[in-house]
Amino acid sequence: MFNALVLEQEEGKTLSSVKTLELSDLPDEEVLVEVSYSSLNYKDGLAVTGTGKIVHKFPMVPGIDLAGVVKESRSPDYQPGDQVIMTGWSVGERYWGGYSQYARIKPEWLVKMPEGMDAAKAMSIGTAGLTAMLCVMALEESGITPDRGTVVVTGAAGGVGSVAVAILSQLGYTVAAVTGRESTHEYLRGLGASELLSRTEMAEPARPLEKQRWAGGIDTVGDTMLARVLAETDYRGTVAACGLAGGYKLPTTVMPFILRNVRLQGVDSVMCPVDIRTTAWNRLLTDLPDNALGEIANVIGLSDVPQAAADIVAGKIQGRTLVDPNK
Ligand code: NDP
Repeated sequence: MFNALVLEQEEGKTLSSVKTLELSDLPDEEVLVEVSYSSLNYKDGLAVTGTGKIVHKFPMVPGIDLAGVVKESRSPDYQPGDQVIMTGWSVGERYWGGYSQYARIKPEWLVKMPEGMDAAKAMSIGTAGLTAMLCVMALEESGITPDRGTVVVTGAAGGVGSVAVAILSQLGYTVAAVTGRESTHEYLRGLGASELLSRTEMAEPARPLEKQRWAGGIDTVGDTMLARVLAETDYRGTVAACGLAGGYKLPTTVMPFILRNVRLQGVDSVMCPVDIRTTAWNRLLTDLPDNALGEIANVIGLSDVPQAAADIVAGKIQGRTLVDPNK
């Protein structure tokens, strides 16, 4: 018997409750994992609160991330005792996820825990941190080095944004952080941001081209803010876009692309191939300072998830939230 947060639907409303389940209730996948930690991402917030169509079938155990120890395995690639990480692959949306003491997972969705990392650190990072690392790698791949100038990060006090600020700063980039919350300024400076910009100012609709300010950008917000970042990006700069916290539209023009050779690089962590994921997890071990993670992460139990989910959707969460299903 073990505990899991279960989502059910009643008259079109999503209801969540902590339930006691048996191992035979879990889907029949090859690897049984005892979950040490999961985490709370924006998408988990949408799933648990029933905002947006994230969950494809009910009942659902949400939680798009998990880290833990293999208990049983029918796959030759994993043995009992192996430490593993799972993020993405529509787990917590189509397949039962990490807000549970146990989960059964397909072996091809697992990544071996990098040497020197543990489940708590992995889930302080989670999908949000992995996405931040993939965004930084996208900037590097397009030649954006620290000497090129300032990199702007939007939604900076959120999960993806916080980790992006910390990694960029560790790698020697000058970072400008865009936030809607003045209360997070000290936190963002602590992570390494040297310039703080207001969300209101950066969400103002831009002209097709504005004064060049950014060597690169990591955008978690979308809509007019991404359009402004593009209009302000330097000649041959790159913007990595991964989120839509401010909206899914992109009211821009071709001008930044055809006159300034600006590159817009999409970043997805959900279906990201395993070799790139493994590289990113190993990079996170070295490029994300432990003291930054201490600042970033709070720990909650399963029964705290519904409130935290409402808070992340309302934009009230700072940094990363770990979920301890054994708490
Ligand atoms: P968080 O809620 O932790 O952070 C989002 C941040 O965006 C908030 O903290 C806030 O930052 C800012 N924000 C919120 N609402 C608005 C708004 N209306 N206008 C402008 N800014 C706003 O979420 P995550 O960091 O987990 O995720 C960020 C985005 O990235 C989400 O859209 C998520 O779906 C997406 N994502 C995409 C992934 C991918 O694979 N492509 C993977 C993970 C996340 P502040 O308070 O500093 O202003």
